[in-house]
Amino acid sequence: VSRKWRVKPTVLDLGGGVTIGEGSLALCAGPCSIESEAQMEKVMTHLVENGVQLMRGGVFKPRSSPYAFRGLGMDGLKDFHRMARARGIKIVTEVMQVSQVEEMHDFVDVFQVGARNTQNFNLLDALGGVDKPVMIKRGISGTIEELLSSAEYVFSGGNEKLILCERGIRTFETASRNTLDLNAVPILKAKSHLPVIVDPSHGIGIREYVPTMALAGVMAGADGIVYETHETPETAASDGAQTLDFDESARLIRNLRRVYQLR
Ligand code: PEP
Ligand code: MN
Repeated sequence: VSRKWRVKPTVLDLGGGVTIGEGSLALCAGPCSIESEAQMEKVMTHLVENGVQLMRGGVFKPRSSPYAFRGLGMDGLKDFHRMARARGIKIVTEVMQVSQVEEMHDFVDVFQVGARNTQNFNLLDALGGVDKPVMIKRGISGTIEELLSSAEYVFSGGNEKLILCERGIRTFETASRNTLDLNAVPILKAKSHLPVIVDPSHGIGIREYVPTMALAGVMAGADGIVYETHETPETAASDGAQTLDFDESARLIRNLRRVYQLR
């Protein structure tokens, strides 16, 4: 995945006019977890109204507590896919284990590898054999080099459709959920030809600061932003405290596009 190997930046074409990589700003938004058809309907309407064609949402959720909501699974993914297709929306959703790769394949546009699975090397090997893009998040305590090595697993396995995601790392700081390492953006862009996306929601974990860090991510050189939004963040099944409501989200989308023009 090194720039030494390929100088030209990789741009992924997801079809339907959706590209991820240099030359455009990729915006991806949606709830932390897919919860219901009613919830998806509201989020999708919000995205369509704001010209966002990429929606995130987990159906397999890695939760710190086994008693927390762990996602709707394949049934939820099939509904997600059907509703997204009807609206021209592309899906980014997390795959947690090797056995899910095949069953999820036909229902996703981008496989997300979560921070807890960045070094699940069997999963990375399996994703090296698929023909769909993979967004790899930086590990919770992962270095930049380790993120690149994880991407290398997928790339060397034959799947060159990769996106790198900075989502914050665990540090000694407790004032925010994670420490969004914006240093990683220019470093990753210099070291690799792959698109780099910033996730300010998990990066800072505090709703009111998410827009600021999203805008900073764009100015740092990110090719896109992925963030969490929900009609009523306070009732979200997961990550409500870092989730924007639709007004906040719409404002952010406008500002992200403005700031991108300044680069
Ligand atoms: C998520 O995207 O909701 C998620 C669980 O992210 P991460 O793996 O970065 O914690
Ligand atoms: Mn989340």
